[in-house]
Formats: sequence, structure tokens, C-alpha cells
Amino acid sequence: MELYAATEKNIQIAAELIRGGGLVAFPTETVYGLGADGLNATAAASIFEAKKRPFFDPLILHIARMDSLYDIAETPDSRILSLAEKFWPGPLTIVVKKKQHVPDIVTSGLETVAIRMPDHPVAQKLIELSRTPLAAPSANRFGSISPTSALHVSRQLHDSAGIILDGGECHVGIESTIIASSGSGITLLRPGGIPVEAIEEAAGIKLQAAEQGSMPNAPGQLPYHYSPEKPVHLVDRITEDIPNAGLLFFRQPQFVCPAGRSLVLSPSGSLREAAANLFAHLHMLDSMDIDSIYAERVPGTGLGLGIMDRLTRASMKKQLIKT
Ligand code: AMP
Ligand code: MG
Repeated sequence: MELYAATEKNIQIAAELIRGGGLVAFPTETVYGLGADGLNATAAASIFEAKKRPFFDPLILHIARMDSLYDIAETPDSRILSLAEKFWPGPLTIVVKKKQHVPDIVTSGLETVAIRMPDHPVAQKLIELSRTPLAAPSANRFGSISPTSALHVSRQLHDSAGIILDGGECHVGIESTIIASSGSGITLLRPGGIPVEAIEEAAGIKLQAAEQGSMPNAPGQLPYHYSPEKPVHLVDRITEDIPNAGLLFFRQPQFVCPAGRSLVLSPSGSLREAAANLFAHLHMLDSMDIDSIYAERVPGTGLGLGIMDRLTRASMKKQLIKT
């Protein structure tokens, strides 16, 4: 994939590529997406190919206007609809009953489809000019660290066809929160960029935890995911140097750290800043000459729930390989 600045003219070129069935990586507020025409099964298939993503992991369709929802889905129940109206554009994905013409490859054969409206001018313009919903999972190889810059994308996907629109760094930094309605309630399928507490406050009810077997067997839900090459150890606090390890602190540490292999998610302890830095810091630590990564746990509230979800999955890879 070749890098292009996200100028008006290049977005136009990218949209033509999408309309011809091609691939375009583009910035959103969460992470960079690998986009294709979400109503073209062959184009969607090339996303799976480029990412080496298994076909049982359904894609999210990205729209730029509220009425596009009704082109691809049946009318959601009123609670889900009002949450979409409140949090769109933004990092909330809703899972709703799909319309017939949404290809099976996009939904992994499910009768439901995941939809969101990204809050990023480049993403919105690209969707608008493409005149189709864009299927767009994170623009990385399956299972590895999600990209929050165009450079992260080109490092992982340079061998694939298509172009990357460079629109700078993603300001939310972790993927969307995914919800679905379940009888009279709402189920949380994945924590992410909209805090669960904000959804609960808007909906006036507590979100239910997803039951085993109630979701597709998707890698986002596999214990290992978002993984650096180096083993990741998750600890409460790093209180002293760990030789040959990369150190990922939540806040500014209280001791003098080894320069060059210590990174801080947020010096002041802001979860918003920590989320925005998470994947970029993991990419950076993974490229260093170290044996392993030690990462501090963050508080599991607000955006911290999504951060802990990613860190926990990143740390599982090594344990699974060992056992
Ligand atoms: P991403 O890879 O970040 O684009 O997120 C895609 C994730 O959305 C999948 O891994 C699933 O967890 C979830 N998803 C997509 N479609 C559905 C669906 N129809 N039902 C439930 N979850 C879905
Ligand atoms: Mg992903």
C-alpha cells in the first residue's frame, strides 16, 4: 500500500478506488481502518486476505449519515437507536438486524450487522464520496497491534494493494465500544472508545455482560489479540527497573527510569490520553531491542475498561504459547 496525504483530491482518488472494488486504509478517531465497499462481497473478501483475518470474524460497516443506517439494517429498537443518535458520529458500534443485500462475508453469515459512524473528517468524506458503506476493520495484520498512524499501517500492509490516506494520528486510539440489544436490555460486546458508564447513563440501564456463545467466535473476543511480538507482562505497578525489558507506565513513575526503553501512557494519569497513546507506545516498545514488555494495569473504569481489555489480550499470547 502506498502512502498519500489525505487531501481533498486524494480522498476523491481513494473513493474511486473503493468504487472499483479496491482497498483504502484511512484514519478514523479510533484507529486506522482498512476500507472496502461493504456491499461488494469480493471487495470485502480482499480485506480478509490482506489482513490474514479469519472469515468467522465479522466486519463493521461505516456510514457517514444517519439515513444510511436504513439502507443496510432494519430499524433498530428505540433504545439502541437513541444511543446511536446520541453518540454518533463517534466510537460506538451497534449490532442490528441486517438487510438482505448485506453480503454474508461481511457478517460472517450472521443475520445481524455491526454499524458505526466515525467521527473523523477524512473518514466521513471518503464514505460520502464512495457512496457506499465501508467495511473497515483495523488496518493491521490479524492479531497484531492496531495502527494509530499511517506509518503503522504501511509497516504492516506495505505488500498489499491499495493506498493509505495519511490523516495524522488517531485521537481516541482504541477501537469502538460494541453494543447489541438483548430482549429488554443491552449487551456490551466489546469495551472501547465510549465509556460504558456514559452509555449506561444515557440509556438509564446497566449494560449486560455478553454471555458465552452469544457472540460470533471473533478474534476481538479471543483471549490473545492486539499483540506485540515481544511477550507482555501485566503488573500493578513497576517500582524498579527490570533489566532488558521495555517499561510501559500508566502515570509518571516515581523513580529514575532507563532512558530509551520507558514510556508513559499519561504523565498526569488521564485515561483519555492513555487510550490515545496505547497502541503507538506498544508499537514503539515492540520495535526496541528488548526481551519483553512490562505494562502497568490502569484503573478499570471509563476508558480504562477498554485499555485493560487490550492490554490483557496483548499479554495472553505468551501464556497461551507457553501452555
Ligand atoms: P473490528 O475488527 O475492530 O472492526 O471489530 C469487528 C468486531 O465487531 C468483530 O470482531 C466482532 O466482535 C464485532 N462484530 C461485528 N459484526 C458483529 C455481529 N454481527 N454480531 C456481533 N458482533 C459483531
Ligand atoms: Mg482489529
